[in-house]
Amino acid sequence: MTFEEFKLNPAIIKAITACGYTTPTPIQEQSIPVVMQGNDLIATAQTGTGKTAAFVLPALERLTVPSTIPGKGPRVLVLTPTRELAGQVMDAACKYGRGMRLRTGSILGGMPYRDQLRLLSAPVDIIVATPGRLLDHLERGSIRLDRLEMLILDEADRMLDMGFSEDMEKIVSRAPSTRQTLMFTATMEKSVLVLAEKMLNNPLRIELAVRTTSHALIEQRLHVADNLNHKKDMLRHLVSDTGLTRAIIFSATKRDADELARELSRAGHPAAALHGDMNQIARNKTIERMRRGAIRLLVATDVAARGLDVNGISHVINFDLPRFAEDYVHRIGRTGRAGATGIAISFVSSSELNYLERIERFIGKKLPEQNIEGLAPLSVLRRVSGGNGAKRPGSSAGNRFGKPKTSAGAGKSWGSSAKPGAAKPSAGRSSRGPVNQPVVEYRSRRNPSPTAA
Ligand code: AMP
Repeated sequence: MTFEEFKLNPAIIKAITACGYTTPTPIQEQSIPVVMQGNDLIATAQTGTGKTAAFVLPALERLTVPSTIPGKGPRVLVLTPTRELAGQVMDAACKYGRGMRLRTGSILGGMPYRDQLRLLSAPVDIIVATPGRLLDHLERGSIRLDRLEMLILDEADRMLDMGFSEDMEKIVSRAPSTRQTLMFTATMEKSVLVLAEKMLNNPLRIELAVRTTSHALIEQRLHVADNLNHKKDMLRHLVSDTGLTRAIIFSATKRDADELARELSRAGHPAAALHGDMNQIARNKTIERMRRGAIRLLVATDVAARGLDVNGISHVINFDLPRFAEDYVHRIGRTGRAGATGIAISFVSSSELNYLERIERFIGKKLPEQNIEGLAPLSVLRRVSGGNGAKRPGSSAGNRFGKPKTSAGAGKSWGSSAKPGAAKPSAGRSSRGPVNQPVVEYRSRRNPSPTAA
């Protein structure tokens, strides 16, 4: 299939060709015709699948016909959970719409109102916004949605996770009922379907086989970690590999991201942190430096890295496992993009065993364990067969386990390494919990035969 077959405006085709795209990706192939026919749509697609073009291209096509409704409000509104993702959608709209005379802009939290009011003072074609700030403008009366033809909820599941449900509903209640609504989400959870039910009109549903096929080019590995220092040793080893050209390292907290980036920098690696406590200018600068290759190692938290689109990431390293299985899929999707191969390495410590099991259930396979020569773990993870020990996201993980003796004193320089609900050593090894719960065994390096946990 070719882009010409969509019968898009020649200016759009020219822009796509200039981007070097020859064939539509599966999500584009399936979504674009449906959206061009005016249908509402709910689609599961993650970053890296080409989902942005899947909604931007038909939106641009719609904008080739002038609006008949007077006013200044946007004709196309894209809501995104984070400023980074909004930036990428804006970039895509500008890139694919560069042959058209469009007025586009973003309305983002943490950015100056003055520029946003200027943007809204004249008719605007496309607005990309984060929900909170957009609602703020709606309530102040500085934006109206009566010209809105197309509403796109990008990463709707993440917007729900971040607590934007009410804001989204308020925004939608001010949009004309004649609008076309598209919802893109990484997962079809119940909460997403409930939202879709409220906001979409008889939508078509497209579900790509996201869990495995989109990551076919990513080699996934698991390293068992005894403790924080062991994780650091393994990280030092991995980042000294010349095959690692550019990596994103995920940490559980902002503080850890800062500390780890500092330690890597001190060790001579071009490294930087990216997290939600940084202001937008600093975040943009860091991402730009990563794109230019001035940074080789980016230590990030989930929210900050959401939607991050930097090509040429050879490795994703989960220094800490994510609490939500969906985030694992998002994280590893930073590598193996646009046909390239990538390596995703995860460290798992005993307190993260539940997170690991959740991830493996979600992706439908076990992550293969590997050891680094000279850095093999003292601990052995023994997972529950059958895997019916599912825990809801947010439930405590790992606190059934005592800390291994081998980890005593580890991680002093890393004060915040404990996750929310992480282990208190008081339980001791004997309090293993009921049968059918994960078990961790420890052995000594000198005596490799496992002893009871
Ligand atoms: P997205 O999933 O929208 O974040 O897109 C992931 C990456 O794929 C971006 O860098 C796009 O520029 C690129 N891309 C989107 N569509 C295509 C296509 N049809 N062919 C090649 N690359 C594409």
